[in-house]
Amino acid sequence: MDITVLVKQVPNTAEIRIDPVKNTLIRDGVPSIINPDDKAGLEEALKLKDQFGATITVVSMGPPQAQLALREALAMGADRAILVSDRKFGGADTLATSTTLVAALKQLKSDLIIAGRQAIDGDTAQVGPQVAEMLDIPQVSYVQKLHYDGKQTLQIQRLVEDGYYELEVDFPCLITVLAEANKPRYMHIHNLVDVFSREIEIWDFERIKPDVNQIGLTGSPTKVKKSYTKGVKQSGKIVEAANAEEAAEAIVTKLQELFMI
Ligand SMILES: Cc1cc2nc3c(=O)[nH]c(=O)nc-3n(C[C@H](O)[C@H](O)[C@H](O)COP(=O)(O)OP(=O)(O)OC[C@H]3O[C@@H](n4cnc5c(N)ncnc54)[C@H](O)[C@@H]3O)c2cc1C
Repeated sequence: MDITVLVKQVPNTAEIRIDPVKNTLIRDGVPSIINPDDKAGLEEALKLKDQFGATITVVSMGPPQAQLALREALAMGADRAILVSDRKFGGADTLATSTTLVAALKQLKSDLIIAGRQAIDGDTAQVGPQVAEMLDIPQVSYVQKLHYDGKQTLQIQRLVEDGYYELEVDFPCLITVLAEANKPRYMHIHNLVDVFSREIEIWDFERIKPDVNQIGLTGSPTKVKKSYTKGVKQSGKIVEAANAEEAAEAIVTKLQELFMI
């Protein structure tokens, strides 16, 4: 089985800095990690590889520093890493990001594409479904559990608000995985030793040749008109409590006051 995992490098914090002039994310100087949902997705791929054998390719679109996330994925057990990177791809909204990723994905054979449900910085949860639509393959989002018996279909538990669906999907398909689906394994000590000598393939504009009008800032229909952080409306109040019971009582009293329960 050929599995492709979409991996996004994200800032290791919920606090994203925004360029006040360009209204785009500033990545420089912010410590980065693999997006947690993607790590759970990679773990899903690694479990399938352990059980049935598979070739796992991790693909990320981003600046050169995203190579670090891909190296971590290699150290966890991925076989091949591709960084889709070119200045022409910069300033992309989710649609242009998906268009660019799809141009790369079309050059790969994937029985299964795994994306995270959502990135912790952009938070749109759009890229996985957009990629599936553009590739015209079935998709299942919000995957919390997956079962494969080595045959033609995947059995999937898809989380919904008040329960879950049990679904069956044929290959090739795309799934978006929740962080809670898996506890990702640590990087393998054996892989760690040689991970910095492993090749990360850099796929630039010429390599994947997407439609130049549909990528980067030009190809992004979303325009950020203004970005700002929420101002503080009022100062907080500290309530001293001697123990948990007192603290709970203080919270209940406050809620009753506020909502006249
Ligand atoms: C107008 C505009 C301009 C922007 N300009 C920039 C910019 O200049 N620089 C910048 O860094 N961002 C920019 N962004 C943000 C960028 O569009 C998003 O980071 C990107 O589209 C992914 O969206 P998301 O974070 O909401 O991912 P989601 O849709 O929440 O991600 C879901 C899953 O899709 C996959 N995925 C998402 N993004 C990638 C990726 N890049 N590579 C591999 N897999 C991925 C992952 O598996 C992830 O878990 C801009 C956004 C807008 C609206």
